[in-house]
Amino acid sequence: MTETQTQPEVNIGLVGHVDHGKTTLVQALSGSWTDQHSEEMKRGISIRLGYADATFRKCPGVEAPDCYTVEEECPDGSASEVVRTVSFVDAPGHETLMATMLSGAAIMDGAVLVVSATEEVPQAQTEEHLMALDIIGIDNIVIAQNKVDLVDRDRAVRNYEQIKEFVEGTVAEDAPIVPISAQQDVNMDLLIDAIEREIPTPDRDPDADPRLHVARSFDINRPGTTWENLSGGVVGGSLVQGELSVGDDIEIRPGREVEEGGQSEWQSIESEVRSLQSGGSQSETVRPGGLVGVGTGLDPSLTKGDALAGQVAGHPGHLPPTWDGFEMSVELLERVVGGTDEIEPISTGEPLMLTVGTATTVGAVTSARGDECEVNLKRPVCAPPGAKIAINRRVGARWRLIGIGTLQD
Ligand code: GDP
Ligand code: MG
Repeated sequence: MTETQTQPEVNIGLVGHVDHGKTTLVQALSGSWTDQHSEEMKRGISIRLGYADATFRKCPGVEAPDCYTVEEECPDGSASEVVRTVSFVDAPGHETLMATMLSGAAIMDGAVLVVSATEEVPQAQTEEHLMALDIIGIDNIVIAQNKVDLVDRDRAVRNYEQIKEFVEGTVAEDAPIVPISAQQDVNMDLLIDAIEREIPTPDRDPDADPRLHVARSFDINRPGTTWENLSGGVVGGSLVQGELSVGDDIEIRPGREVEEGGQSEWQSIESEVRSLQSGGSQSETVRPGGLVGVGTGLDPSLTKGDALAGQVAGHPGHLPPTWDGFEMSVELLERVVGGTDEIEPISTGEPLMLTVGTATTVGAVTSARGDECEVNLKRPVCAPPGAKIAINRRVGARWRLIGIGTLQD
């Protein structure tokens, strides 16, 4: 396979209620669960963020939708042709996924909403996730009505009607609803056909400044490696725009905290790109889509244990600013997701948990008036003005999503 075929070209979120079959569906479509990545990637990034690449294929001489498959061999024994490679993002902790989705890290180009035919519609996260898609305006959606092997025809039809009623007036109103059984491999061709039609690969600008949202960072050296054999630190995440090539200089922000004369200050880190990994293989250049691993010349002690997670990497001098605090305009949700409680306005002094890109930080509100508020951050973030911020408030033992902020200049 050529490089263009192995790097996934589009990211598709797998959303929906727990146990409705998201992981099973990803397995059915990708065959093996992210085994293309190296051990470090597998243990690290893919487990936490659940990226899995799937190559859609078609059998020559067969009409759509019957032609679609993920197998290399067609039923008649001929070889299938590659249509495109996609990356599914299936986060085990759906709250992490929600916050990242809402903060507009732009990691999803579309979504498959999985709804089980065996339960009433909507279940809590079915509603929560659809609301998130609605808020961020992801409207390339396919609905997979899963587990149809467990219900009779009447129940399947009733469930279908409930789904239709539930999505009315939302971004998913016109989304196709495809009955499937992920576990029994039923109607995978119909599902791929729907994804091909509804979730096209977006046009990307190859000249945009590269921007990598770092989700994980590692030290890949085994304990006891001698210094001549040490590999530089590795960062992994989503390239949301531009291209990155081996040999490029990179800057990572906010970087690291440095103490000077009793004062602490965040300083960005610079290095160069020594290797790139995407779609399970080494590449010279990577584009947006799927997970990207970047081998750098950094001292691995700087990258170990996810120390750089939540930071942003790009070409030196071309990254957005670093903020210790900022002003944001706020749009509160009408009510707590999945509940009926109204949301109280944000008040001065209260702590908020904010997700900006892949960064999560706690902010203390220093001033709140109407739909604007100012926060001081515990840890700084790198983000452009206009960035979307998922705002969470502590309610009892849990952080609950209460609104969306926009970073002001
Ligand atoms: P997730 O929480 O949405 O990722 O759900 P999982 O993929 O982990 O599935 C939850 C359970 O439902 C597992 O026991 C699966 O084997 C089962 N399951 C998933 N899809 C199907 C299906 O199409 N038919 C049947 N009978 N069981 C399914
Ligand atoms: Mg799962």
